[in-house]
Amino acid sequence: MDLDRFKRWMGLRTLYLKWTLPLRFPLILNIEPTNRCNLACRMCPRAISHRPVTDLDWGLFERLADELGRHGPILKVFLQKDGEPLCHPRLAEMVALLREVRAARRLSVITNGTLLTEDRFAALAEAGLHDLIVSIDATNPTDYQALKGLDAYDRVVANVERALALKRRHGWRFPEIKARLVARQGHETEIEAFRHQWEGKADFVDITPYHTWLGAVKDERAYGGRPRYPCALLWYTGVVNADGRVSPCCIDFNLEGDLGRVGEGGFAAIWNGPALRRLRRAHIEGDYRRTAICGPCEYWLIKEDLGSWLRRRYGVPEPSSPPPRRSP
Ligand code: SF4
Repeated sequence: MDLDRFKRWMGLRTLYLKWTLPLRFPLILNIEPTNRCNLACRMCPRAISHRPVTDLDWGLFERLADELGRHGPILKVFLQKDGEPLCHPRLAEMVALLREVRAARRLSVITNGTLLTEDRFAALAEAGLHDLIVSIDATNPTDYQALKGLDAYDRVVANVERALALKRRHGWRFPEIKARLVARQGHETEIEAFRHQWEGKADFVDITPYHTWLGAVKDERAYGGRPRYPCALLWYTGVVNADGRVSPCCIDFNLEGDLGRVGEGGFAAIWNGPALRRLRRAHIEGDYRRTAICGPCEYWLIKEDLGSWLRRRYGVPEPSSPPPRRSP
């Protein structure tokens, strides 16, 4: 997406959020099928994560799907967080169940594409997946291997091209296949080459901002430098990890922002519960160090600035304004 389109899109999102917040259930839910992965990407902090490797319990997934069916359709469910979703053998069944209960308007999977065989792509398409975002992240095998730790560039490109051909052959509209590149500082020519390679071929070219995972990976950001404002994600996005624990956001790769495990009350009990309410309040009041993760984070920068609106909504003064006068 180019910068002007991105700004217009953010403006519309901000208006929509002001119209809908606060929410009893998130607009977007990330569910992590597994935190297993078959790559070791340089811009991913999995290598230093302490999380035990596990797959999402099927019973818990069914309960989440049931809950989504009751609250939904929400805007989007992402089947992904830290792991490679295609490492989960029942990914297509997950999509089919979410589709059956009308969980969301868009069902999305983000994959590295290495395991995207024709059969698995066809199963995802037939299950009703809307978006398949493939993190290709390079334009040649050498850069790919340096960035991702595996000599798999040609395989990934072939997998994406085969999926696109299968779609064309069957006349399928979905899933829309998005070729993704993480935009790194100093790699402007790579961005142009990537666009050139995939525009008109993939359904979308998705240039996504680089971030440092709370300072865990080298800073190669191509953006920055705005005064801090509350992180809008806390008001509209939920995250369930593969072990059933809930994080404030998808940045929480080590579960340091743990908000508890999905239990009897379902995800809604955590979304409306005291821990997340306290965290939202801390952000409105400008206290970003209330959790270990938000202090060093810079991901909020690429999300909507709802700060002033939220402070007015909750009667909290702007940080620079004088404290309210006491009544005589
Ligand atoms: S500030 Fe960063 S760590 Fe905190 S909720 Fe937002 S994205 Fe997550």
